[in-house]
Order: sequence, then structure tokens, then C-alpha cells
Amino acid sequence: MKVLTLNFLTCAVKTCKSSANSFPLHPKDAELVSDDVELNPQLLVNLLPRIDWNALRITSTELGFPQLPEQPPTAEELQSDEKMLKDLHTLLMETQINEGKLVCGNCGHEYAVREGIANFLLPSHLV
Ligand SMILES: [Zn+2]
Repeated sequence: MKVLTLNFLTCAVKTCKSSANSFPLHPKDAELVSDDVELNPQLLVNLLPRIDWNALRITSTELGFPQLPEQPPTAEELQSDEKMLKDLHTLLMETQINEGKLVCGNCGHEYAVREGIANFLLPSHLV
């Protein structure tokens, strides 16, 4: 699963929906792989407003990537900043979590990721 996907996932446990701690999920023992994807600056510019920047900063640091700036770049800044474009492209589009776990910061539930696919099925007592 792409790092981008992690920016849109929260814990599936019902009581976690209202908790700010359930997002973003925290990768644990993550084995990363990198796909070669062609850089598409316009796609990144279009994505930017839909991304939860604070969550992405947390994810980026937890995966061992360089820390992102505190504020997201504006569309104009991003278009003219080749390094930022490349860094975001690598992080969001090319990096995949292949194996590992995603941990909820609220309930501690661990979702397994196997062969790039996260399993969000919950044991019956949590549904
Ligand atoms: Zn949870």
C-alpha cells in the first residue's frame, strides 16, 4: 500500500472514530519497497489540498524520511520547488509498505500488512 493511502485511513474500531489519536495509523516493523513511478507535478499539486499535512509529517518521520516542513507548500511553491516535488513524489507515490503492521494510537489494535495489502477486518468483539 502506498504511503498516500495511509493519509486516508483511520482505525476501524467504532469507539476510535471520534478519537483524534486514531489517525494517522502508525506503521510498525514496516518493510518498505519503492516503485518506479513517473513524476507528475500536476497530480501532486492537485493532491496537496486533500492531504492531511500534519498526519503526513508524522508518517514521514515514522518511516524514516526527512522531516517535512511545518506548513504545506502552496500550489505555486510546490510547482517551482523541484526538490519538494521530488521528495513528495518519492514519499507519496513511490514508497509502498509491503509488510508490517499499522497500529492505532487510540486502541492499540494492530492491522497486518501482507504483500502490500492491509487487512482491516476486525475480530468480532471489536466490531
Ligand atoms: Zn483504534
